[in-house]
Amino acid sequence: MTAHNAHISGPPTDLAGAVLTVDLGAIQENWKRLAAKAGSAECGAAVKGNAYGLGVDHVAPALWAAGCRTFFVARPMEGGELRHLLPREAVIYVLDGLFPGQAEFYAREDLRPALITIEEAREWAAFGTEYGRNLPCAIHVDTGINRLGFSPSAFEALIANNEIMARLNLALLMSHLACADEPNHPLNARQKTAFAALRRRLPGVKASLANSSGIFLGSDYTHDLVRPGIALYGGNPVAPHSNPMLPVAHLEGTVLQVREIAAGESVGYGATWRATRQTRVAVLGAGYKDGVPRSLSSRATNGPAQAFIGGRRCPVIGRVSMDMMAVDVTAVPVDLCQRGTRAELIGRNIAIDETAEWAGTISYELLTRLGQRFTRLYSGGESIISKAPLS
Ligand SMILES: *Cc1c(COP(=O)(O)O)cnc(C)c1O
Repeated sequence: MTAHNAHISGPPTDLAGAVLTVDLGAIQENWKRLAAKAGSAECGAAVKGNAYGLGVDHVAPALWAAGCRTFFVARPMEGGELRHLLPREAVIYVLDGLFPGQAEFYAREDLRPALITIEEAREWAAFGTEYGRNLPCAIHVDTGINRLGFSPSAFEALIANNEIMARLNLALLMSHLACADEPNHPLNARQKTAFAALRRRLPGVKASLANSSGIFLGSDYTHDLVRPGIALYGGNPVAPHSNPMLPVAHLEGTVLQVREIAAGESVGYGATWRATRQTRVAVLGAGYKDGVPRSLSSRATNGPAQAFIGGRRCPVIGRVSMDMMAVDVTAVPVDLCQRGTRAELIGRNIAIDETAEWAGTISYELLTRLGQRFTRLYSGGESIISKAPLS
C-alpha cells in the first residue's frame, strides 16, 4: 500500500449502495493528540472488537506507524489475530483475562493476560514455571466499576501470596473508570484515590487507569500508560464540549430514487410519517442491515435524525428498513440530489455522537454494529500494510 491511496475492500463502490470510508490518517492524528494530552504517560490503543468495528487489520498497523506500541484487545482470539498484524515488539494485553487452560496460546502468541482473579494468577504463575520463564502480565484491580478485576481485598490476598507473586512477571497494574465521561461524577475521585493507594502497594510496576475520557480528567489519571479507544475512532471524549478529535468513520448511502409525494401521503412501513405539504423524498440504499439503526426512524422526541445531502441537513422520515431509508430533500436543489448522489449519514457534517444520540445509543455501539454490506474504503495513513504481516 502506498500512502494516501484509498484501499478498496468489499464490492466496487458503485455496486454496494453504501460506502464506509475509514480515515486512517485521522486515526493517526487522533492518537498523536491523545499522546500529547497524556503528557509523559505512554499512549496505547484499545483495538478490541475489530478496532471498534473499523477493521483492525488496517487500524492496528496505522497506529503502529503513528508510534503506538501497546495494544488492548478483549479476547485471546482477537490477540492472536492482532499478533500477526504487528511487529513482534508490539505489546498486546488481553482485557478479558486468562481463559481457562489457554495459557499456552497466550505464550505462543506473546499475549499478556490482564489477570482478574487469584485463580488466574495461580494458573499463569504455574504455567510460567512449566514454561521455564515468568511471562509478563497485568493485574487488573476493580476500583469501583464492579465489572472485571481483583477486589481490593483479593488484591491484598494476592500480594501477600509469596508463592504466586514470586512467579509473576508484573508488567502493569491497571483499573478501569466507570464514569470518566462525566467529569464531576464522585466515583471518578473515589477511583482515582483507590488506584493511587494500590499503586503504592506495587512500587516499580507501571500503572494504567485512563480510557479516552479519563485522559481528559487531568494528570492524576494518566499514570504511566493510557488506553484510549473511542477517541481514536472519532468519538467525543469530552461531550458536551466540542470534540477535540477528528472524524474517522464516514458512512454514506446512495440515492436510489427521488420522488414527489403530495400532502397527506405517508412514507415507508407502518405509514408512520405523513407529509403535511408537497414533499420531495430521496430513498437511500442504506438500512439496518448496513448498520443504520432502525431507531433512527422518524419520531417526535429529540428531533428527527438527519442526513447530509447536497450541502444540507435533511430529516430522516418514516422507518429505516433493512435495505433503505427515506429523507426529506425538499430543501435541496434538484440537481444536487439525484439518483446516484451520496448522502452522508456519519462523517464531517453529521458527527457520530449526534447520530448515536438520535438513535438512542452511544458512538461505541453505532461503530461496532456497522454492517459488512457496504464498500469499505481506507484512506490516508503512512506506511500502511494491508495484508502481509510486518515482521
Ligand atoms: C474498552 C476499554 C478501554 C477503552 O475505552 P474508551 O472509552 O473507548 O476509550 C480502556 N480500558 C478498558 C479496560 C476497556 O475495556
